[in-house]
Amino acid sequence: MAKSGITPTPQLGEKHNGIPARLFDKAGHAKSSIWDIATKPEEKKLKKIAIPQGIEETKFFEALEDLKNQLGPENVELVEKLVDGWYMENPNTHDGMHILDDEELVASAVVYPGSTADVQKIVLWANKYRIPIFPISIGRNFGYGGAAPRVRGSVVIDLGRRMNKVLDINPDDCTCLVEPGVTFFALYEEIQRRGHKHLWIDVPDLGGGSVMGNTLDRGVGYTPYGDHWTFHSGLEVVLPTGEVIRTGMGALPNNNSWQIFPYGFGPYSDGIFTQSNFGIVTKLGMALMPDPGGYESYLYTFQKEEDLAPLVEIIRPLRIANILENVAQLRHVLEQVACSGKPRSTYWKGEGAIPDHVIHEVAKTLSHGDCTWLYYGMAYGPKEIRQYKLDIIHKEFMKIPGARRIDPTTLPKNDYFWSRDRIAAGIPDLEELAWVNWHPNGGHIAFSPVSPVRGPDATALWKLAKTRCGQYGLEFFPTYCVGMREMHLIVEIVFDRNNPTMRQNVDKCIRAMIDDAAKAGYGEYRTHLALMDQIAGTYNWNNNALMRFNEKLKDCLDPAGILAPGKSGVWPARYRGRGWEIGKEGRQSSEGDGVAPAPGSTRL
Ligand code: ADP
Repeated sequence: MAKSGITPTPQLGEKHNGIPARLFDKAGHAKSSIWDIATKPEEKKLKKIAIPQGIEETKFFEALEDLKNQLGPENVELVEKLVDGWYMENPNTHDGMHILDDEELVASAVVYPGSTADVQKIVLWANKYRIPIFPISIGRNFGYGGAAPRVRGSVVIDLGRRMNKVLDINPDDCTCLVEPGVTFFALYEEIQRRGHKHLWIDVPDLGGGSVMGNTLDRGVGYTPYGDHWTFHSGLEVVLPTGEVIRTGMGALPNNNSWQIFPYGFGPYSDGIFTQSNFGIVTKLGMALMPDPGGYESYLYTFQKEEDLAPLVEIIRPLRIANILENVAQLRHVLEQVACSGKPRSTYWKGEGAIPDHVIHEVAKTLSHGDCTWLYYGMAYGPKEIRQYKLDIIHKEFMKIPGARRIDPTTLPKNDYFWSRDRIAAGIPDLEELAWVNWHPNGGHIAFSPVSPVRGPDATALWKLAKTRCGQYGLEFFPTYCVGMREMHLIVEIVFDRNNPTMRQNVDKCIRAMIDDAAKAGYGEYRTHLALMDQIAGTYNWNNNALMRFNEKLKDCLDPAGILAPGKSGVWPARYRGRGWEIGKEGRQSSEGDGVAPAPGSTRL
C-alpha cells in the first residue's frame, strides 16, 4: 500500500457508508496505523473478468448490456481490479479480509439498484440468463466474508449505495423502518438530527455495518436489545423469482402495526430470510430502546485462567435474572494487549504463539493491570435501580479470589473502557478495529461456537481453541458473549493477508476447531463463506434432515438457482453433486465442476 498521501475517510454527509463527523479523526488515526505497517500492494488488476460457470463469456457480456439498458449504464460496473481497502472504505467486489486467495471469492460485476422495483428487475434478469447474484447491504461483514459472493463471478447487488433511507422513525412506538444501506452510524446520527433524544439504537462492536445486513446475519450488540433478530419486526422481501412479499402485519393493506407486531397471521416466515439465500430483503423494521434514564459501565478483572469456570457459573443465574442486563463481554487479556493497536512484533518476534509470561508482562503496563479475564458490563436505569444491581454483581464477582473492580474514574478518557461504555449505551464507535493491526495487512476470521453458560463448557471451548491455535503457532482473541441462556465464544484470529502460508494455517486451524467442537456437541452461530459447507455439514441430525428441508425450500423458491448459491451451505439443484462444497479437508479453490442447465423455465 502507498505510505504517503493517505486520503481522508469519506464522511456520512458525502457517502451513505461514511464516517460521522464526530469520529473523523479517529478514523484517520485508524487508517494511518493500518497503512503504516501495510506491505500488500494497494490495488490488483485482474487478468480476466471472473465469468461465472454456466454461462459463455460472450453471452455474459450481452446479458450485462441488457442489465445496463434496464438500470442505466452508471449502475452496472465490471470488476476489473481488486482494492482490499479497510473497514471504512471496504470493497464491494470481494472479501477485503480474504482467507482464500483474493481472486477466489470475487464478483464479475456490481449492480446498484435504486428501488425494490429495480431489485425485481435484477432478479428477473438473473433468471433469464442464469447468472448467480449475491446481495449485500454494505459489505462490511468482515470476518465472515465481507462483500464477497460464495460463487466466483456472481454479480454482487450492492443494495446500500442507492437504497439507504431511514424510511420511518416512530418516537411513540420506539420503532424504525430502514432500507439496506442504513448503517448503525447513519441511524444513530439521524435519530439525533431528528431530536429523538429518548431513543437508543443497539450497535455491534463497529458501527459501519448496516442494521439490515447485521440483523439478517443474526449479529448481536451490547445493550439489552442486543439480539438484533429478536428485536426486528417486519420485512419486505424480493423472492428469487421476482415477486415481492411483506411479512407479518405488512401483508395486511393499510395496517399500522407492521413494526410493532412481528408475527401477523399464519406461518411465520421471517426466519427463513436470515443467513439464507431465499430472498433479498429491501425493508426491515426494528424496535428502538427507550432511554433507560441512566447507565453505568463496570469492569472487573480476574487473575487466573482457571477463574473462567467459576466465573461463568456466577454469570449464568445473574444473566437469566437480568441482573446482568446486557450481552456481556468476557474477554481474554491478550485481546486487550492487541487493542492498543500495536503489532505483535512490538512484544514478540519469536516463532510460535506468544508465550503467556510475555502477555502478562505487557498486561502489567495496561490501565487495568495484569489479569487473565476481563468482564465489561453495564447497569441501566436511575441511580438507585442501578445500585441495587451493581451491589449484587459486586458481591458475586468478588467471590473469585483475586477479582478486582476497576474504578472508571481512574481511567483516562481515551481508555478502551470508554469505547465499551459508548457501545453498551448504543453509541456506535470504531475502536475495536485496533487489534486487526496485530499483523501487517491484518485480516481476521472468527470461530464462533455456541454453548450453555456453564463453567465446564466455557473451559472445554477455551482448551479446544488453545490447543489447536497452539498447534498452528497462532494467537487468538477469545471473547465470550453471554446472551440470555447461551453464550457464543468468538475466537478471532488475525492473519497477514499477504502471507499465503499463514492464511492456510489459519484455515486449517479453524477447520480443525469446527470438527473438534462438533464432536463435543458445539456448533457455530455464524461463519465465513469459506467455512459454511463444513459447518452446515455438522448440523446433520437424522441423516441431514435439516439440509434436505433447506434444499427443498431452495429448489421451490429459486428453481433457476440464481440467488447466492452455496450461502450457508445451501446449494441449488443445479450445483449439487459437482464438488462445490468445501469440506473439512479445506480445499483452497472455491469452485466446483460446472453447473447443470437450469430447468426450462422459471415460474415467471
Ligand atoms: P453489513 O451491512 O453488516 O456490512 P453485509 O452487507 O456484508 O453486512 O451483509 C451481511 C450478510 O447478510 C451477507 O451474507 C449478505 O449476503 C447478507 N445480506 C445483506 N443484506 C441483505 C439483504 N438485503 N437481503 C438478503 N441478504 C442480505
